[in-house]
Amino acid sequence: MARTLKIHPAHADLETILVTETAIKRRITRLGREIAKTYGDEEITVVSIINGAILFTADLLRAIPNPVRLDCIRISSYRNETKSIGKPQLVHSLPLDVTNRHVLLMDDILDTGKTLAMVTGVIKKLNPASIKTCVLLDKKGRREVPFDAEFVGFKIPDKFVVGYGLDFAERYRNLPCIGELRPDLQNPPEWA
Ligand code: 5GP
Ligand code: MG
Repeated sequence: MARTLKIHPAHADLETILVTETAIKRRITRLGREIAKTYGDEEITVVSIINGAILFTADLLRAIPNPVRLDCIRISSYRNETKSIGKPQLVHSLPLDVTNRHVLLMDDILDTGKTLAMVTGVIKKLNPASIKTCVLLDKKGRREVPFDAEFVGFKIPDKFVVGYGLDFAERYRNLPCIGELRPDLQNPPEWA
């Protein structure tokens, strides 16, 4: 019986695909190796910024052979759907104790740098043994505060992207690839 290839319906809302599902899988395998090489046999305390980093974290954790502890944090929204409009803040304090631990902070995308600069500042005050950052995507040209991540999946241009965890008004997180959302869909009043 002939098999038809199922295309995710949300693909129609993308202007272009920037990172394919296959490219994500390959890069995650390599990132896992880079991380294992950096930490040796040490245990890693992964702190994942939800919701955006959920899919990336779930897949990357399985590519890291080290012992891992996982915690998730949420940042109060300081952006409208596509733009930064204020200051990011932690919604709760970190539930897991990170003192003397090797913390690997994970986020979906590094944009202005405000979120990761704030969160690393908070974690540093808790006296971790080390803190490093891993992001799936890096829009390097958009930085408003200086910030570099130690581990980067893909550098991308200044486009508003969705898929593989990244949303627009909580939609599109389940797309298996990452693409630029069609500009005509970036501000539909019925979604506001
Ligand atoms: P920053 O604080 O670095 O400006 O922003 C980081 C956060 O902004 C990310 O965790 C993500 O939630 C959001 N963000 C930045 N750029 C994009 C984008 O192109 N698409 C989506 N969906 N979210 C983005
Ligand atoms: Mg986010």
